[in-house]
Amino acid sequence: MNPRDASLNKWKTMAYVRVFLVLVMFGCSSTSYKIPSVNEKDVWKEYISQNAKRMEEFRKTVRIYKDRVRKIADVSWPILVASERFCDSDQADANFGFVFVSEKSWTKYEPYKQMVLNEEFGTGKKSEGMVVTYVIDGSPAQKAGIQIGDRIIALNGKRIKNGKDFKRIAENGLLYISHGGGAYLLNKITPRVKDNPPTVKLKIERGNDVLVLSIRPRRMAKYHPIIVSSEKPNAFANGRDIFVTTGMMDFVKNDEELQFIIAHEVAHNIERHIDKQKSNSLVGSLAGYALDVLAYNMTRTNLNLSSAGNTIGHYIYSKDFEREADYLSMYILAIAKIPTDNISNFWRRLSDVSGTTGIYSITHPSNPERFVRSIAINKEIKEKQAVGLPLKPSK
Ligand SMILES: [Zn+2]
Repeated sequence: MNPRDASLNKWKTMAYVRVFLVLVMFGCSSTSYKIPSVNEKDVWKEYISQNAKRMEEFRKTVRIYKDRVRKIADVSWPILVASERFCDSDQADANFGFVFVSEKSWTKYEPYKQMVLNEEFGTGKKSEGMVVTYVIDGSPAQKAGIQIGDRIIALNGKRIKNGKDFKRIAENGLLYISHGGGAYLLNKITPRVKDNPPTVKLKIERGNDVLVLSIRPRRMAKYHPIIVSSEKPNAFANGRDIFVTTGMMDFVKNDEELQFIIAHEVAHNIERHIDKQKSNSLVGSLAGYALDVLAYNMTRTNLNLSSAGNTIGHYIYSKDFEREADYLSMYILAIAKIPTDNISNFWRRLSDVSGTTGIYSITHPSNPERFVRSIAINKEIKEKQAVGLPLKPSK
């Protein structure tokens, strides 16, 4: 069955169910006239034709989404690897470094959208397995030879039909999680295997071939960024996950800036700022409404928390926690061998677009202060490197 037929059939089934329900409710009645019959294929063709414009629009959206997922996966990888050394055992996982979707991922969409998604992600050809949609550069998945379009059909000899199977296998030590930015296959780390993630065998269909690849996942910080659809340049951390808005992805000038933002949010989680904040009675009243807005000045008019419009929650950290996150994140960048010389410019540009920027802010250190400190942290890192000292934040 081709994807088009599969989509159509699902859609038709739903339509039949609705008609059936209506008939049950109102009883059967036959028509008085002999109405000309129509060919299903012609109806489908017309359906596609009537939705042609919407399909093109949707395709554009899907491609932008794909690019964003790939970008965030690529830039966050070295950050999460470099952050691992700062993690407690409950803050790290091991990751293969590929993004995948289930064949069942699109069933909630209309048929024309399903067609686009199937074309864009290489799904819709079969009903079983998980399709690899991206392989991160330098990841164990890439080294093991996994390719985009590979269909994972078994894991350690256990058949995988869909996401539920992954969850079931999770109980045996492998964890499946689904993120807003894509799905990741993670190997749950227990203290026992903390420093030595086991090798996993993935059975893969590639075209007409079936192959088994052995992969040893990479241990790293478990805070894979979730992309939030919002024009406001923003990023936040809630202790469990980190979030980056599409507005922030557009605002950053280069990968290094995006990596700095990711590292900053990872640092909040690693340092358990949320927990520490909760135990601080002075800011206790703010917990739960907290807001970690890197771009505070740009969004202050939207500080009305009821207008947040999502369930992610926002967090206000104390200024000192912000300074700590800025400090640690620069070291994470340096450990990942990402240039830190120009990160300071981020704060200048932030002030440029935010109109007026005060030197005082209730929640965050000011942009001028963060600019100056960024230069100081960079200098400290350079000095340690020059004399061969380890890249350890000073205590
Ligand atoms: Zn922050």
